[in-house]
This record gives sequence, structure tokens and C-alpha cells, in this order.
Amino acid sequence: MFKQIKNWLGSVKGFVTCPNCGDSYWWKPTSIIWYSSGRGLSICTECYNNPVNLNINQIKHSLYKYHWDWKNVEAVGTALIKFKEESEHETKKNKQEKEVSTDQKNNLQH
Ligand SMILES: [Zn+2]
Repeated sequence: MFKQIKNWLGSVKGFVTCPNCGDSYWWKPTSIIWYSSGRGLSICTECYNNPVNLNINQIKHSLYKYHWDWKNVEAVGTALIKFKEESEHETKKNKQEKEVSTDQKNNLQH
């Protein structure tokens, strides 16, 4: 089924959408980014797994559209910046580990 049709069906059924990509939670699994104690923002798992593609301004804009309190929106913004930074750090670390293991393999072959 086309994404647009699935999103349309989702909105008819009253499901909210991912603030980042706009896809309906009717057909997409969701994950949560915690921005303060006990308060979390749900985004779809696909966006959650690709923090590089998170558009913070777009997400904030979506939250204002949903009539979120500006204090919470700012808190989400801060949490998202941290989330992106941490994931970039993780990606770099994983890359370095991969490079090291490739070197080790090369050493074994010589
Ligand atoms: Zn999404």
C-alpha cells in the first residue's frame, strides 16, 4: 500500500503522526525520546534509528501545531540535540572499532 494512503487511513482512524516524517502511527512502530522525568516524545522507530535525519525545527513546528506548551517544546529541542550528539558519538565509536578490527585482520593475513 502507498505510504500516503496508509497515512490517510491512519488519520481517518484518529492516529497521530510522527512529528519528524509525518507518517501515521497506525502503521509505524514508535519509540520514545525522554525529555524530562516521566515525559517523553514519541517518534516513529524509523526516525529514532536515524537521528541524523531528525529535523529539530520541523519537530518543534509539529509540536506547536499540536498545541504543546512552549516550555515542553524547548525541552524536547534540547533533548533532541543531546540525542543527536550522542548518536553521532556512537556512530564514530562503532566506525573506529570496525576500522581497528579490519586492521587486525590485515595483520593476521601478513
Ligand atoms: Zn518518523
